[in-house]
Amino acid sequence: MRPKTKLQVQVFELSRALPKITAEQKQWALEKCLKHVAFRTKKAISCLDCGHIWTGPSVNKTLLSRLHTSCNCPSCGVKLEIQDSRNKKKLDQRHHIIAIIDVVKEFQVTRFFELNSHHKVGKKACQYLTEVVQHWFVPNGKVTVVARMAAFGYNSGFTGDLEIRPSNVSPNIGYGVDKYNIYADSIYPKVKVLPIYKRNGFTAKIKRTYPYSLFMNILTDSKVETLIKSKQFDLLATRLGSKKHLIDQYWNSIKICIRQKYIIKDAGVWLDYLELLRYFERDLRSPKYTCPKNLHQAHNQLVTKKRLVQKLKEADKMRQQIATAEPIYKLEKEKFFGLRFSDGNLTIKVLESVREFMEEGDTHHHCIFTNKYYKNKYSLCFSAQIKGVSVETIEVNIDSMKIIQSRGMQNKPSKFHDRIIELLNANLPLIKKRMVLKSSKNKISKQQGLASVA
Ligand SMILES: [Zn+2]
Repeated sequence: MRPKTKLQVQVFELSRALPKITAEQKQWALEKCLKHVAFRTKKAISCLDCGHIWTGPSVNKTLLSRLHTSCNCPSCGVKLEIQDSRNKKKLDQRHHIIAIIDVVKEFQVTRFFELNSHHKVGKKACQYLTEVVQHWFVPNGKVTVVARMAAFGYNSGFTGDLEIRPSNVSPNIGYGVDKYNIYADSIYPKVKVLPIYKRNGFTAKIKRTYPYSLFMNILTDSKVETLIKSKQFDLLATRLGSKKHLIDQYWNSIKICIRQKYIIKDAGVWLDYLELLRYFERDLRSPKYTCPKNLHQAHNQLVTKKRLVQKLKEADKMRQQIATAEPIYKLEKEKFFGLRFSDGNLTIKVLESVREFMEEGDTHHHCIFTNKYYKNKYSLCFSAQIKGVSVETIEVNIDSMKIIQSRGMQNKPSKFHDRIIELLNANLPLIKKRMVLKSSKNKISKQQGLASVA
């Protein structure tokens, strides 16, 4: 888009006069923002940075070599992370966004570069650093965006020239925000900011963030300023992200941490842990709970505890479910109770309670209980047992008098499957007889009823 307003003309001119990325900045990007990897096979180690291949402690099966997770390339000297790979030949590191924060005249400027790096065994890595977006703004003023065109879809790159782009960059992150408010995976540590941002605590120690959201919120959101000044950078990232409300929700606990000089290194886990503390109704203002020495351990303990509580609740629910279903099942299927067929050590018996459905489901890990087969009017279920141990569960349709299914462990047939089918098929008339028996009883009682009316 051609610059139209006076502001756009000014920004565009300043933008064109910006210096290229310096050698020092480029070196920082390639060294600090990419992974440096070596592929290790049985025979050799390959440096994916310079392409050097050498034979080293390469036996990737011994415990000793597995302990070596990094090494230095004997050719380029870079410290490499070892990945054991038999067939892998390529590695791509794409769309890593780095931000350079600068001041130009009265403007606070953020320049975003996209770093792409392609690696192939035996070849020197191919690396591209392309400037894709610039934000130009004055404190609490409108942002002017100079950028390449953002391709459609998340993280799918940029095309075209650096031009003024129509943009509605919002300082709030969330669904549907402007594609030009982009996330910086890394920020060049030598930052230049306008005095007002410096006064409100902006520091180069912030590593990954949405720079525009940070600049805007630092002036309007006192919690952002507090989090920066107390070096709670991980909570700051949450504050600027889509889970902003959690910082409000647990602000009192956060203040306790700040007072105790307890730095939260993993905000995701800590907030999850606070949620668990709340579930167990612990005192969220007590440092004993909010500042655990070992966060991950404390978090995992509560996760285990909560699972246990949930399991007990589920068991309780199941007991109630069974208690309600039991009399109905008995009423419907009692006429079949006692049916039992044997062929040597194989016995097939009708399931006589809902509890037995649950036991069959537990034994074989199939869904006979969870899918409530005991409620099915036309299903009659049996357990096929060898020496009293269930090997398969069988479903017979009592309307069509056909065996619908017979399944063992994880819905698979057991080695007794054919014998089970044969034995049950031979005894289907006995099941039918029970139905006839009952229905003739019904008939008789109906006739008696009619007779008495007459
Ligand atoms: Zn190398």
